Amino acid sequence: GGTIGILGGGQLGRMIALAAGPLGLDCHVFCPDPDSPAFRVAARHTVAEYTDTEALKAFAESVDVVTYEFENVPAETLELIAPHAPIRPGAKSLAVSQDRLSERRFLAEIGVPTAAHARVDGEDDIVAGLETTGAPAILKTRRFGYDGKGQTTVRDASDAERAFAAIGGQPAILEERIDFRIECSVVVARSEDGQAVVYDIAENRHENHILKISRVPADIEPRTAQEAAEIGIKTADALGHVGVVAVELFVVGSGDDERLIANEIAPRVHNSGHWTQDGTAASQFENHVRAVAGWPLVAPHRHFDVEMENLIGHDVDRWPDLVAEAGAHLHLYGKRDVRPGRKMGHVNRVRPRER
Ligand code: ATP
Ligand code: MG
Ligand code: MG
Repeated sequence: GGTIGILGGGQLGRMIALAAGPLGLDCHVFCPDPDSPAFRVAARHTVAEYTDTEALKAFAESVDVVTYEFENVPAETLELIAPHAPIRPGAKSLAVSQDRLSERRFLAEIGVPTAAHARVDGEDDIVAGLETTGAPAILKTRRFGYDGKGQTTVRDASDAERAFAAIGGQPAILEERIDFRIECSVVVARSEDGQAVVYDIAENRHENHILKISRVPADIEPRTAQEAAEIGIKTADALGHVGVVAVELFVVGSGDDERLIANEIAPRVHNSGHWTQDGTAASQFENHVRAVAGWPLVAPHRHFDVEMENLIGHDVDRWPDLVAEAGAHLHLYGKRDVRPGRKMGHVNRVRPRER
């Protein structure tokens, strides 16, 4: 027995709670949104703000360990929880990944290449930064960006004013635009005693800056896959991470010239790891729960070739066909309102392994 506290009530929290069930663990989900998808599958939930001292204390006292499904947990929230329950993954994982600049510094420290970039606190830094990045370049807010929000392309120096205004004049980084062949990601689970397991590398395709398709195996050289796995393990180790962490990577070139450039770190279960639910010995959600609960991890052997398709907005209207499709495993998040760009569910299509 035992209870896991989850900060955040979205689909990731929901799938963590669903994975905890068969292990005999209860979940208590904390989220400000009264209509959170995770609430309906959790033993308990609390609707309150992440700065609500009393509610956080009661939440933390009711659980054995606290985890989170999003990286923008306020530092204040962690401070309020810390006296009452362990938080896994820990503070370093959050601090590094909440800020794109600290993320890049961290990756440089562990010897993982990233795109050329410059710090931006104002328009002038964009003009100067273009010397480092070349043009066009991508301007990204340092904090709170997701699904391409808080990003804009800078055409040239004359575009600096517009671009800085477009991201709301926030602290940012200007980044070299990478001419990648494909995108991929590595998903790693690491336990408290340092055992790390790596899932097969997924190849990811985005539409409108939102992940649309992840598939395994990825169309990359075995050597590149090995390097991606090493990047994942090195990242998890250097963070002292407990739980699942994902690293998004650009694959540049092909054959002998193929190489990897890291894009970002997600210190949590990741959309590009959803394929693991129907293709492996234990999903990313199960291994996350195991790690957080202090249990041994399951080696993530892959049984199938899998293609995960995100059901975004009205894609979900296709569910009657998908639920009838052979080899298709449908996962719906139970969100009541369909909105454009909103992740409503996903489908994992499995077939026998070719590689
Ligand atoms: P997420 O939802 O994955 O957290 P995000 O808003 O944090 O997204 P990124 O992952 O940095 O943003 O960028 C979103 C997508 O935009 C990338 O997956 C990639 O397709 C494209 N992109 C980002 N940075 C670059 C770059 N430097 N060069 C080329 N394409 C890029
Ligand atoms: Mg991101
Ligand atoms: Mg990303």
